[in-house]
Amino acid sequence: MVNLKAKFPGYQIQEAVPLAEFTNTQVGGPADWVFWPQDLTALEDVLSVAQENNMPVTVLGNASNLVIGDEGLPGLVIFLTHFTEVKVHNQLITAQAGSALIAVTNAALKAQLSGIEWAAGIPGSVGGAVYMNAGAYGGQVAEWLQSVTVLTPDLKIKTYQGTELEFGYRHSLIQETGDIILDATFKLTLGQYAEIEAKMEDYNTRRASKQPLEYPSCGSTFKRPEGYYAGKLIMDAGLQGYTIGGAQVSKKHAGFIVNVNHASAHEYIQVIRHVQAVVQEKFGVQLETEVRILGE
Ligand SMILES: Cc1cc2nc3c(=O)[nH]c(=O)nc-3n(C[C@H](O)[C@H](O)[C@H](O)COP(=O)(O)OP(=O)(O)OC[C@H]3O[C@@H](n4cnc5c(N)ncnc54)[C@H](O)[C@@H]3O)c2cc1C
Repeated sequence: MVNLKAKFPGYQIQEAVPLAEFTNTQVGGPADWVFWPQDLTALEDVLSVAQENNMPVTVLGNASNLVIGDEGLPGLVIFLTHFTEVKVHNQLITAQAGSALIAVTNAALKAQLSGIEWAAGIPGSVGGAVYMNAGAYGGQVAEWLQSVTVLTPDLKIKTYQGTELEFGYRHSLIQETGDIILDATFKLTLGQYAEIEAKMEDYNTRRASKQPLEYPSCGSTFKRPEGYYAGKLIMDAGLQGYTIGGAQVSKKHAGFIVNVNHASAHEYIQVIRHVQAVVQEKFGVQLETEVRILGE
């Protein structure tokens, strides 16, 4: 395997990095290489060497919607944590992929722009939010996204209009293309500071009262099955509090699986699989994971 650190001594690259340090669940084994590109040129340089060497590449955002297996991820993992510029121009906000979604909602509030108040408490990055079509309280990225700039797998810069991204429930076209999202532009509407702030505060209060934010997790584990609520099915199946090792179905919100005591990814995934099996058996409903399980 090519030694990326030796090949690019000026770049921020580390070998054998435990990914649990970066994931919201606090589980996940090591990546062979982790790279934090300082700019687009650095990103392209390292990607082209990774490609020449057939090295698998995974771009992660804030790792808040992921369970990474205990074996970790092969090849190269990229974090765009240096890509954090957020610019406001009239009713448009353009944010680089590594920006926190919360930095975008803060910028919107400051500029009195309304539309994405629902995103105020989502702990993801802009790239992850576009990739997942993140949403809450009736809002979703798809409605407010004007365009996205990506780096394609053949290392070309491309712009998609929001309407081209085939958004669906927690789905975007980027899940199929393998593009790396570089930035996203949201088109918002003019609003009043106090009203925008009040909405954001309301959503955040609701989150804090209903969600087990005191524990590491990846948010809602399952997609909402048509005609049901995942959390209610899990509660009705008597699974709240169900624990394997350090991973537990939250006692506060059954849709969350929380890491209560140094869980391994294996334990975390076993809880997910057990919940799916019991809900299927008791109610005939298939729970599909919303969280992405990588390197299982
Ligand atoms: C407490 C809590 C509450 C949550 N509440 C919500 C909620 O209300 N609504 C909701 O929708 N989600 C929610 N989530 C889940 C999560 O925050 C969102 O899905 C978020 O959008 C994921 O962003 P991320 O940066 O963490 O992505 P990651 O988890 O890092 O990655 C998710 C996927 O996106 C890909 N990806 C990330 N960045 C890029 C990029 N630049 N280019 C290409 N691919 C990329 C990754 O490869 C991965 O497959 C919650 C999570 C937690 C822990």
